[in-house]
Amino acid sequence: MSKVFFVTGASRGLGAEIVRAALERGHQVAATARDAAAVAKAYPEEPANLLALTADVTDPAQLRAAVEATVERFGRLDVVVNNAGYGLVGAVEEVSDEAARDLFEVNVFGVINTLKATLPVLRAQRSGHVLNLSSVGGFATAPGVGLYGATKFAVEALSEALQGELAPLGVRVTIVEPGGFRTDFLNPASLRTEPATIADYEAGAGPVRQSMGANDGKQAGDPVKAANAIIDVTEVAEPPLRLQLGADAIARIEAKLDLVRRELEQWKHVALATDL
Ligand code: NAP
Repeated sequence: MSKVFFVTGASRGLGAEIVRAALERGHQVAATARDAAAVAKAYPEEPANLLALTADVTDPAQLRAAVEATVERFGRLDVVVNNAGYGLVGAVEEVSDEAARDLFEVNVFGVINTLKATLPVLRAQRSGHVLNLSSVGGFATAPGVGLYGATKFAVEALSEALQGELAPLGVRVTIVEPGGFRTDFLNPASLRTEPATIADYEAGAGPVRQSMGANDGKQAGDPVKAANAIIDVTEVAEPPLRLQLGADAIARIEAKLDLVRRELEQWKHVALATDL
């Protein structure tokens, strides 16, 4: 059955592939980006079931206008894909206040802004599906990318809460946790890198700093396959709360689960001794 999608950050990368995959399956798609012209450029064939809209996720008024235009054109809203986001490299202490706040503005408040613009429609319909792009880094972060991980952990927390809040209203929530996918994500066009200003962090954060740049264009993940896997979960009766994408995501998440389980067993006698 044809659905109406609303996708943020649709000018490039995973967002653009999600839009393409949804259009190919006959869905109607509002593809939003900071510059609607960039969306139009990404889909020069301009299919009739595509609506290209300007929406910087840091601008609630633009988002509200984009949602209004979507409902006016397609009559409803079924799937919201919170995809816009970017990465930031630097040891926690090295990241400037401005860079940290800018990152939270897009990766966390951008998601909240989009939710506030779209959820009234989904709640009124008593149906819909919200997909929030987290990351494997939203489940298991690493030295050198702690601030990025913090934004994605925040997305995971609010998504878990939302699932319980929206389930009684017939609205589903899925967190998407990609590993490395070959988009612009690691390219300087998207990735922000803070200068390595504190030599003490060379050992801890240095290896990730180097590997991020070196992996640009070499990621194992195929964005087209990721986009299709994301559309697939919008078509099942019982979508998962979490969808991992990529073998690297599975390995890192399994390692984290094992570590948490091991530490829990080792230390739970302390926790259990603290009740009144
Ligand atoms: P990408 O190729 O760099 O694309 C990022 C998209 O986000 C672009 O369309 C960009 O638009 C948009 N964007 C950035 N800031 C925005 C803003 N303020 N308002 C609206 N759009 C904005 O990266 P990607 O790999 O597709 O990333 C998509 C999502 O997947 C992100 O949330 C990212 O954290 C997550 N993710 C990616 C990977 C990976 O390896 N690729 C792994 C884990 C998670 P402009 O063209 O206007 O800059």
